[in-house]
Amino acid sequence: MSDTSLDFIRQIIADDLQSGKHESIVTRFPPEPNGYLHIGHAKAICLSFGVAQENEGARCNLRFDDTNPAKEEAEYVESIKSDVSWLGFDWGENLYFASNYFDFFYDCACHLIKEGLAYIDEQTGDQIKENRGNVKIPGTASPYRDRPAEESLDLFSRMKSGEFEEGKMVLRAKIDMGSWNMNMRDPILYRILHVEHHHTGDLWKIYPMYDFAHPLEDAFEHITHSLCTLEFENHRPLYEWVVDHCPVPATPRQIEFARLNLTYTVMSKRKLLQLVEEKVVAGWDDPRLPTISGLRRRGYPAAAIQSFCKVVGITKQNSMTDVALLEYEVRSNLNAKASRKMGVLKPLKIVLTNYPEGQVEMMTVPNHPEHEEAGVREVPLARELYIERDDFMIDPPKKYFRLAPGNAVRLRGGYIIQYTGHTVDEATGEVTEVQCEFIPDTVGQSAPEGVKCRTAIHWVSVAHAKDAEIRLYDRLFTDENPDKNEAGFLACLNPNSLEIITNAKVEPSLAEAAPESVFQFERLGYFCADSKDHSSASLVFNRTVGLRDSWGKKK
Ligand code: ATP
Ligand code: MG
Repeated sequence: MSDTSLDFIRQIIADDLQSGKHESIVTRFPPEPNGYLHIGHAKAICLSFGVAQENEGARCNLRFDDTNPAKEEAEYVESIKSDVSWLGFDWGENLYFASNYFDFFYDCACHLIKEGLAYIDEQTGDQIKENRGNVKIPGTASPYRDRPAEESLDLFSRMKSGEFEEGKMVLRAKIDMGSWNMNMRDPILYRILHVEHHHTGDLWKIYPMYDFAHPLEDAFEHITHSLCTLEFENHRPLYEWVVDHCPVPATPRQIEFARLNLTYTVMSKRKLLQLVEEKVVAGWDDPRLPTISGLRRRGYPAAAIQSFCKVVGITKQNSMTDVALLEYEVRSNLNAKASRKMGVLKPLKIVLTNYPEGQVEMMTVPNHPEHEEAGVREVPLARELYIERDDFMIDPPKKYFRLAPGNAVRLRGGYIIQYTGHTVDEATGEVTEVQCEFIPDTVGQSAPEGVKCRTAIHWVSVAHAKDAEIRLYDRLFTDENPDKNEAGFLACLNPNSLEIITNAKVEPSLAEAAPESVFQFERLGYFCADSKDHSSASLVFNRTVGLRDSWGKKK
């Protein structure tokens, strides 16, 4: 039975349950702990954990694919666990480390040798490469290919005990040196590495290759559907060969889907590491990075990342997704739930000359324009206010409805005010103060006869405002596809990806903002209190995303 709402992987799973091929489903998410997770991993997580959530009795294992000792660190294990939970997924008891299976891998390798399906090759790395041939030329058999199994077994156990130096010999599968699929030309299964492993220390001197270890890990954990990205499609015959020829307790099926690529973004761990190590960004959780921890610090809600992954969908076609789609999901999620606040990024002082000195009135302002249940808050108004510098012009163009000579504007949630005069700094020519008069009885009331008021602007009281640092983040790259930039991805960094405003003024209620809480600063965008640097003594807000897609326009 075909259900059109299912992607092709969920359809396969539904069919396998329906036909009785499987009674329940087991998937896994298998990160290598050699970097932080990024939005591409989120797609894989939402798929494998999502499938487990959707099917009764199903589970998804979190398995660290830590078979490569050289590059892995414990810090990454912790960050990956915290990112997966934050995204909203729970592996329960099912946390595994591939390095716990080293004995099992070793036994499987010995089994293959005994069956005449693997041998120790003493050719050099270069010889092995050369004799592998290429797409046009079949490979040449190694002179060691037909050595007796006992000899290979003996050498293999001595490799294991550390008797030989690195590169001296490898264990290879005996498959087909003439195969059209290069992965099947007697692939290497094990190599010697005298390297400490973060889990097993210096116990092992040999380490399995990914293509050998991965299917065994899946089979060992009784994975039913092993979901991975398209670059592994050519490896599937080898995956199946390993499962078919080793003594394994289950037969997992590998299914590939297209990886996520985003415009204006690099996703390769190597490149992300380079950005971190060369201090182009402030760390793995820099809000400009596509890492889960960076997006989180930027203020992206986990639910928005999940719904983005859903909208992108699962297919077999590689493509590039517009990062504006991710921003759209973030914006619509925040629009629904973020409380409205007032904050002024570039303050200009105005004085309401007809407002009594020393008087303070509390204006009642709704926390959300559409959700009455979000309630209201009191914002103090007094004689001296800050407004946005951009909201005043001495000589405005047509259709400028903000504050200007001859224009009346409403203070959001407060009075209508009218321009009466302004003061200019002689030296710089800059406007330093604008004088206005407020019109009594206009709070919550329309403008009196003869006064045209067409817009409302945000404001804060000079005496009550809190100082804040605002970090305006923008895209890290100016090239839509930094990976393809001719001069390299570092050549197309956006010089304006971070603008720091140190003297912003925000409404007093923001002094109580908890780290990581998100708000809409009216007319400006969505902002979140920084998870590391914000405190009630020193307010720091990150711009999560603007109110509208301004990037397309800028271009
Ligand atoms: P590298 O950058 O070293 O190739 P990786 O990004 O593939 O690493 P892994 O830790 O091997 O990192 O990835 C774990 C899982 O996440 C894999 O199953 C992989 O297919 C999936 N994954 C990685 N990048 C993406 C992506 N851009 N889109 C979808 N899935 C991805
Ligand atoms: Mg990988």
